[in-house]
Amino acid sequence: ATPTSIMAGSGRAAEFGILFKGGEHLEQTHHIDTVVVDKTGTVTNGKPELTDVIVSDGIDEAEFLALIGSSEKQSEHPLAEAIVQGIQQKNIALLNVDKFEAIPGFGVKAIVQGKEILVGTRKLMSKYDVNISNDLSVMEKLEANGKTAMLASIDGQYAGLVAVADTIKETSKRAIKRLKDMNIEVIMMTGDNERTANAIGAEVGVNHVIAEVLPEGKAEEVKKLQASGKKVAMVGDGINDAPALAVANIGMAIGTGTDVAMEAADITLIRGDLNSIADAIIMSHKTMRNIK
Ligand code: ADP
Ligand code: MG
Repeated sequence: ATPTSIMAGSGRAAEFGILFKGGEHLEQTHHIDTVVVDKTGTVTNGKPELTDVIVSDGIDEAEFLALIGSSEKQSEHPLAEAIVQGIQQKNIALLNVDKFEAIPGFGVKAIVQGKEILVGTRKLMSKYDVNISNDLSVMEKLEANGKTAMLASIDGQYAGLVAVADTIKETSKRAIKRLKDMNIEVIMMTGDNERTANAIGAEVGVNHVIAEVLPEGKAEEVKKLQASGKKVAMVGDGINDAPALAVANIGMAIGTGTDVAMEAADITLIRGDLNSIADAIIMSHKTMRNIK
């Protein structure tokens, strides 16, 4: 490979907001046949908003929201921020929290005013033996619409749920179609539940969805694809994505995401528009053609 054409290729890419950390990555990108995209903040805008609150019989909604909001206030998760913002917009005052624990991939646990509060997934509820049967069908309906529903319990009793919705980036659908037209398989991977993930995956037209992946599992999924002979580009924005970005043949970080993701990646996509993935691959093809 001639250094001159690699440099010219990197320079041209940079003009399009595609920053290669080194020339060797331009060569690697040329061989990519599989693109794995994270959901939240990558396919979607990553700014979820509170859309639904459903409380069980006998539960006061304002009190429920105060307890949930106070617990989530301690969390740095984007879902937590959405819940807290939505609750504060309802002018509900938050309470002091005596104890807090984040349970990555599951939710949160807190003690507020002497009450034990849990907010998170079905798995979190079953882990603590909370019976959620009452609202399961409601939850499924919300998820089929692409919303993320989080269940809550107070002192071990199921108390209600909150749902948030994230918006899909306007550019995601076309960007994914361009990749598929290049015979590249597109897989969306997320910690979110299967139903929500499938709804969003179908809307943007990915070939395959891998859902309910625990934070440490994303890199494992990439390794599995590699073991079956795939050359994988991983695209993500979060701290969660960093190990997967590092093990992928090419890691692409979204420029609007976390610094940790950018450090782990080989390429930064400044524009946050997934069309940059196809652009990067096309530029690598052109550069490699010039070299041969
Ligand atoms: P993602 O890959 O979408 O960032 P995570 O692995 O961080 O997902 O979380 C997986 C799931 O765990 C979320 O979809 C949510 O249901 C639940 N969860 C995580 N953090 C919280 C939280 N702070 N409050 C409530 N639920 C949470
Ligand atoms: Mg993300």
